[in-house]
Amino acid sequence: MANSYRNILVTGGAGFIGSNYVRYLLDNYNDVNVTVYDKLTYAGSLDSLADVLDSIRFIKGDITDINLISNVMKGIDAVVNFAAESHVDRSLIDSRPFIRTNVEGVLILIDEARRQGVKRFLQVSTDEVYGDLYYSDKHSIESDVFAPKSPYAASKASAEHLVKSNFHSYDYDVVITRGSNTYGPYQYPEKIIPLFITNAIDNKPLPVYGNGMAVRDYMHVEDHVSGIDKVLRKGKSGEAYNLGAREKVTGIEVAEKILTMMNKPLDLITYVADRPGHDYRYSVDPQKAESIGWKRSWVFNEGLKHTID
Ligand code: NAD
Repeated sequence: MANSYRNILVTGGAGFIGSNYVRYLLDNYNDVNVTVYDKLTYAGSLDSLADVLDSIRFIKGDITDINLISNVMKGIDAVVNFAAESHVDRSLIDSRPFIRTNVEGVLILIDEARRQGVKRFLQVSTDEVYGDLYYSDKHSIESDVFAPKSPYAASKASAEHLVKSNFHSYDYDVVITRGSNTYGPYQYPEKIIPLFITNAIDNKPLPVYGNGMAVRDYMHVEDHVSGIDKVLRKGKSGEAYNLGAREKVTGIEVAEKILTMMNKPLDLITYVADRPGHDYRYSVDPQKAESIGWKRSWVFNEGLKHTID
């Protein structure tokens, strides 16, 4: 594929989606130089990049470290920012690291990118900025008002406002993606799908929140990263793009499917106290991303089976 950004900085590239994106870049462009900048928190690991470490530049660092960021940004054409504290449950226990990385870190990154003339800044955001759709049949569209409920979602919404302010105030070239719940290889096993799969391997209970009826639109990570790349190349400056798989899956269905696919007994399912402020339903309309040429290729049942394998 043609590549208008030769030198790409992938922040948070040792995490789940970031490491898959690095692999996507190397597989699809032969003239790309990838720099991964990552703090390697509990969620990041060089193991996620082991097969590509020889083909990239890796720098360990925090996105709030202005001096290091300023050095790393030299010669970069585009920044794709995945770096984040990403787990809602952790944000309910202590939200301060979420503000530091997801808000302050993004501000430091985008200010430095703009000052150094980096051509385009892509912020990886989330469908959680829209908040709960409850029992409606509605799908969130990009112009909907934000109504984040968890501290995690609030921090991601704040970051989006800062990124957009750079477009409005400085005419800086920014784009944003709002992906739905993502699953696939290299995900840290605190998130529902890898947690359930690893618990099932060990014959341990699968903890389902509340009545298990919270609905999510699960998207395979390969689709998420191809969407991010499409928005980087084709997205209109200043715009956000939903990325979702048009799936509708409840927590209990995730548990049942995993146990059935793994030939494990359904009585491993255990109901636990609901997450405080648990959103009942998210669902994005990905039509705008489809209009620039992206479409998802994985359906949930096949993607889940592949992930288990
Ligand atoms: P992850 O937790 O697996 O990875 C985050 C990465 O960021 C890790 O490698 C971590 O070491 C790094 N990091 C954290 N704080 C940092 C800091 N201060 N400086 C530098 N690096 C730091 O997360 P993920 O699931 O891959 O999510 C990536 C992005 O996608 C996040 O911005 C998240 O909000 C967004 N997102 C995730 C999902 C999902 O379902 N996982 C869905 C939509 C959007």
